[in-house]
Amino acid sequence: MATLEIHDLHVSVDAEGGPREILRGVDLTVKQGETHAIMGPNGSGKSTLAYSLAGHPKYTVTGGTVTLDGEDVLAMSVDERARAGVFLAMQYPVEVPGVSVSNFLRTSATAIRGEAPKLRTWVKEVKEAMERLHIDPSFAERNVNEGFSGGEKKRHEILQLELLKPAIAILDETDSGLDVDALRVVSEGVNRVRESGQVGTLLITHYTRILRYIKPDHVHVFAAGRIAESGGPELADKLEEEGYEEYVKGGA
Ligand code: ADP
Ligand code: MG
Ligand code: MG
Repeated sequence: MATLEIHDLHVSVDAEGGPREILRGVDLTVKQGETHAIMGPNGSGKSTLAYSLAGHPKYTVTGGTVTLDGEDVLAMSVDERARAGVFLAMQYPVEVPGVSVSNFLRTSATAIRGEAPKLRTWVKEVKEAMERLHIDPSFAERNVNEGFSGGEKKRHEILQLELLKPAIAILDETDSGLDVDALRVVSEGVNRVRESGQVGTLLITHYTRILRYIKPDHVHVFAAGRIAESGGPELADKLEEEGYEEYVKGGA
């Protein structure tokens, strides 16, 4: 069972006028098979946490530890983290000009599995995953995220999730900008991967809406760069009613 352990994580970002501390001591443990919702107001540092775990160069870890099964994640390159099983679905997925979805997926799978997937089974695997996510077959020949609608970008992230089968999936606002139908399709994808019991999920969100479709085991309120409160699903209900005001007061 893979376990991601974040301990007292401090992260700064290079801003104009010098480095600025965004994460101020994050503690969190995510085990394979568990779903943790991280909920918090805009600007609280949720994406910074996601990027820091994935190894984005703009974010500098100034303190604390992150381990995956005891292995030092912070010492790994971005590629090594992906191979170790850390997957990030970005809040704002980036365009990859000149690279088709089909090539991108196969290259990613090859890098992560350590060998190229057998063509015939792979084509079938991709086709079936696309069908489940209601993605048109022609999508495979388009360039990654180029001209994609918000919903297409998020479906493409979940398509990667289904095909790459990570140990730890960090989903950064995968629900934002989705209409109800797309939200359902995307949530079904997340739930399928989750039902395998093989993935630990960090579901980062601003809104409680997605939690109607994806039931978290644990809910954490994120405010001013740290986890301000942790609880069960009932904590999300409280946030739905009361918002984040209590956590923001005197915070950031
Ligand atoms: P959230 O995802 O919770 O909305 P973010 O992690 O995106 O929060 O941002 C947290 C804070 O860090 C914000 O004040 C934001 O402006 C700042 N920040 C994040 N990334 C950068 C960056 N690359 N350059 C400058 N400031 C940043
Ligand atoms: Mg934000
Ligand atoms: Mg964000």
